[in-house]
Amino acid sequence: MTPRIIRIIALECVIIIIAITMIGAAVTEHNRFKEEGSKIAAEEASSAVPVEGKTSAEKTTEKETTSAPEKKSNYEYSYAGFDPAVADTSSGVSGLLLNRDFVLPDNYKPVLKEIVSGSGVYLDERAAPYFQAMYDDAKEDGIVLNPLSGYRSVQRQKRSFENMIKTIMREEDLDREDATKAAAERMMLPGSSEHNAGLAVDVCSQAKSFENTKEFEWLSENAADYGFILRYPKSDEAQKQTGMDYEPWHYRFVGVNAAKEIKRKGVTLEEYLGAVQSVSEPSLTSS
Ligand SMILES: [Zn+2]
Repeated sequence: MTPRIIRIIALECVIIIIAITMIGAAVTEHNRFKEEGSKIAAEEASSAVPVEGKTSAEKTTEKETTSAPEKKSNYEYSYAGFDPAVADTSSGVSGLLLNRDFVLPDNYKPVLKEIVSGSGVYLDERAAPYFQAMYDDAKEDGIVLNPLSGYRSVQRQKRSFENMIKTIMREEDLDREDATKAAAERMMLPGSSEHNAGLAVDVCSQAKSFENTKEFEWLSENAADYGFILRYPKSDEAQKQTGMDYEPWHYRFVGVNAAKEIKRKGVTLEEYLGAVQSVSEPSLTSS
């Protein structure tokens, strides 16, 4: 064999090895996604631990955020102009503010508890007993507060967000940056949804017409007594402060004292926590 043929054979060997390595990596990645998909439900339910009555929620501290939040370094959607800070998760259920400017730290995972046995809907264990009590009391009034959606992991939010970006890129022929901006108009950025923290629950319906029901009327009257607030109110001023369109079905747990005060003052959580100035994005999003 001439040196030239040996060189060609050696080159072909290298190409074959690279190809085998790439196929192997792709198969591993594929399996990982497949496993992840089937594990989601189990994974999201696995951290549920029982709590007794209202005792754990009573321990909840209710204080306001004071120190300046640190910017989240290398937020993966900063290329599209999103530059949020890390939310203060140590400030208790009433102090945790999540919106376009504040996201949960990576791998944040609340301790979960199922609300309404058999519903498959989970909330942070500090909120769950309060929802259960509200559900039971409403039922005695002939009102069924069917929980549609509670905790959703950041990972799941991210998968949905990535799918949304890809769909928009394909269907609207946009580049990734513009598609990301468009996606953020239609759903919450990963880590910025209160569902990611297990502190919000969508009740009964996800349609605006929910405001015309007796269930909505009951919640407007009583939710604060159980520590829940209507997080995205209808007024223009509230929408400006929260950066969110009106959602009559989305209730956020903040604890009884904070909820009653927020209701009495008729303010948003941003205003209550003195964070109105920090909400940067005027455009409206739906979660
Ligand atoms: Zn919601």
